[in-house]
Amino acid sequence: MYLGGLGRSGSTLLERLLGELPGVVPLGEVVHMWQRGLAENERCGCGQQFGRCDFWLQVGKTAFGGWDKMDAQRIADLKAAIDRIRFIPRLARAELPARIRQRLTEYTDYYLRVYQAAAEVTGAAALVDSSKHASLAFCLSRRPEIGLRVIHMVRDSRAVAYSWTTRVARPDVSAESYMTRYPPVRAAAQWNAENYALQLLGRRRAPVLRIRYEDLVRSPEQTVLALAEFAGIDADETALAFLGTDGYARTAMLREAHTASGNPMRFATGEVSIRGDERWRAAMPDSHRRTVTAMTLPLLRRYGYLGRPA
Ligand SMILES: [Zn+2]
Repeated sequence: MYLGGLGRSGSTLLERLLGELPGVVPLGEVVHMWQRGLAENERCGCGQQFGRCDFWLQVGKTAFGGWDKMDAQRIADLKAAIDRIRFIPRLARAELPARIRQRLTEYTDYYLRVYQAAAEVTGAAALVDSSKHASLAFCLSRRPEIGLRVIHMVRDSRAVAYSWTTRVARPDVSAESYMTRYPPVRAAAQWNAENYALQLLGRRRAPVLRIRYEDLVRSPEQTVLALAEFAGIDADETALAFLGTDGYARTAMLREAHTASGNPMRFATGEVSIRGDERWRAAMPDSHRRTVTAMTLPLLRRYGYLGRPA
C-alpha cells in the first residue's frame, strides 16, 4: 500500500495504525530512506541508527547483498530526472519514450527490491510505504509486480497550511534540527498539486482510495477496516483490539515499527491518543486562512470541508 497526500495530513498516524493489523508491515517514507537512512544514517523508528537496525540490515542484504553495494547518489540522480511533480503529466501517459522508460525501470527496481526483501524478511501480506509524493506513486504504478494500491489521505487545507508554519523538532538526528516550514501560499499550492495528481492517478493508473484525516481521528475503526479491505487483508473486530479509549480520547496501543523516515510520531510506542489537531481554528491568522481557503476552494468543497462544521 502506498500512502499519498501532502505532508502534515496525518499519514504517519495512519501508517502506524495500519501497522498494527495482522500481516501489515509499515516501512516509513521509503522515498527519504536512501538519503536520510542510507547516506546520513538517521534513526529508524525503532530508535537505532539506520545502519544498526537489524530489520534494515536484513532488508539491505536480501535486496542488494548489503547496503554498501548501493549508491544513494545514483538514486538521487534518477529521482531528479523522473520522479518530480512537474513530470506527472508525462508519467500519466500510456506510452513513454525509451530513454525515460529505461530510467524509470532502473529507479523503480530499487523500490521493488526493497519491497520484495521486506516482504521476505517479515512474511508480511502487505507493506505500507508512506512516501506520500504523487510523482513516486505514478512511477511505481508502471510496475504491475508491485500490486500498487494507493491511499489518498486528505486533510483540511487550512489545517495543513497552518501546520507547515509551525516549528516541529526532528528527533531523527542527534543535532538540533527542525522539520521544514513553508509559507501558507506555498503549502496551499502544494496541497492542490498533490491532491489533483492523486485524483488523476486514480482515474488513469492505479486503485486509489481517498480517506479524510478528520474521519480517521473521529472513527479510527471504520477507516482502518475500510483500508484493510482495500488492501485485501482479512481483519475482523479482534484485529482492531489495539484501538481503545482512555475516557477522554480515542487511543491506540502501538508496538515498535521499523519506519525509515517520517514525522516524529513514528517513534511513539505504547498507548498513544488519537486526537484531531484543530489548533489552526484558533491560532491561524485570518489573512492566512482567507488566502488558503480561496486558493484551495474547489477541492475543499469536493472533499466536504465547506458548508458544515467538521
Ligand atoms: Zn529499526
